[in-house]
Amino acid sequence: MNVKTAHVRSFGCQMNKLDTNLVANALARAGFKFTSRASEADVVLVNTCSVRSHAEERVFSLLGHLKHIKKSKKGLIVAVFGCMAQRLGKELLEHEAVNIVCGPAQLPQLVGLVSKAMENKAGAVAVSSNIRSKHRWEEFNALDDFECAYDSALGETPRQAYVRIMHGCDNFCAYCVVPYVRGPEVSRAPETIIEQIRKLAESGIKQVTLLGQKVNAYRYTAGDRTYGLADLLYMVSDVDGIEWIRFVTGHPKNFGVEIFEAMAELPKVCPYLHVPAQSGSDRILKAMNRGYTCAEYLELLDKARAIVPTIAIAGDFIVGFPGESEEDFEATVKLVKRAEYKNCFVFKYSPRPGTRAEDKLIDDVPMEVKKRRNTELLAIQEQISARSNKKFLGQKVKVLVEGMSKKSHLNSTEKPDQPQLIGRTATDYIVVFNGPVELAGRFVDVKITRTSALTLFGELDNG
Ligand code: SAM
Ligand code: SF4
Repeated sequence: MNVKTAHVRSFGCQMNKLDTNLVANALARAGFKFTSRASEADVVLVNTCSVRSHAEERVFSLLGHLKHIKKSKKGLIVAVFGCMAQRLGKELLEHEAVNIVCGPAQLPQLVGLVSKAMENKAGAVAVSSNIRSKHRWEEFNALDDFECAYDSALGETPRQAYVRIMHGCDNFCAYCVVPYVRGPEVSRAPETIIEQIRKLAESGIKQVTLLGQKVNAYRYTAGDRTYGLADLLYMVSDVDGIEWIRFVTGHPKNFGVEIFEAMAELPKVCPYLHVPAQSGSDRILKAMNRGYTCAEYLELLDKARAIVPTIAIAGDFIVGFPGESEEDFEATVKLVKRAEYKNCFVFKYSPRPGTRAEDKLIDDVPMEVKKRRNTELLAIQEQISARSNKKFLGQKVKVLVEGMSKKSHLNSTEKPDQPQLIGRTATDYIVVFNGPVELAGRFVDVKITRTSALTLFGELDNG
């Protein structure tokens, strides 16, 4: 039999990493081999992101490159899947490079579409025609089966897996495309999630990260019982073999304290919270349709810290949202200074077609102002992190090792059998140290000898 070769690329968030992993496993099970070079592949699959225009531009630049490859390799099949596929649908098929367009809800069909296109060379589009309907039960059930059948450790991090607990989002933040490309909020049944995690644990998984756009909004009703995220944390904690449990992303609105109580009570639940604020200005938060004020957000952080004193908190911010004045930005700076994040992600506002902000508001903050605010906010956070990380000096921390550090060549003390490894603490701090590569996927103790704003450096503590 002629073995087919696939090249898979992934853009975007953790949800996309999970989807890419599922697709890669489905391809492997269908007999495909993988190559890191698009030019050597029979099929190129691209998982796409629509959250900012830059993410879409990167995909179009890759498609341009694939168009060139196709000139000398006529039979090459290119499949575009994920959020951009759902957003642009058959419009994407007009691109010379593209043969298959497959939305996030149609992933179970993707390998079949690829095989068919290899035979008949015809184009195919599979996207949801009514993405906002909650009644696409066939699609949701097929996704459940697909996820359970193909979930595994993520390629780059042994013994760690992502598990989706809910699809979509109903929040409609004014700037955000997610509700239009990932559909409505639908929580998966707890028994399906637990069954999936049990299987992952049996295959050697030690850490699961529960994924959703607003994980604290997880709700599933079966009979007269409704399950929330806290219930799920108790259930996952009971799975033998799972040692660390994380969840992302939290939404500041309706964040029940029972989630922090579960975190405090359950040793397996990592004391880490990613809860984006987006802005420190109440005026902007209202225009963004976020559903909370800056004071309510800070109250939430205080509650989290009171119940889980060891908790580390990360945030997201958008700078340059329409109408954001210097005063609004100063309010955001004030919030960042007060919040004492472990780290935060800052994005320049990017108008997204179909969203309320793009439709109703003018993108009136000039790019150079967005850039300046972005740099300024990151610099403030960097100072906070650099200062705060010093508390780790001389301390021993427990780390789940991910693998070799990508920057290992920078390490002058590196010995061939002790390359530079990278791992994370339960609180999500990045730790870099030297050790044998066989430690990937294991828990180790590291004594911290040096810190920077982004990283803790140390030595393996074998004692
Ligand atoms: N569901 C999560 C939440 O509500 O916080 C985050 C989802 S979104 C995929 C990840 C981050 O991208 C957001 O927290 C936001 O900061 C940023 N983002 C979303 N839409 C954006 C836009 N149009 N322009 C710039 N940043 C955006
Ligand atoms: Fe987008 Fe807001 Fe939903 Fe997050 S909560 S996915 S930012 S609409």
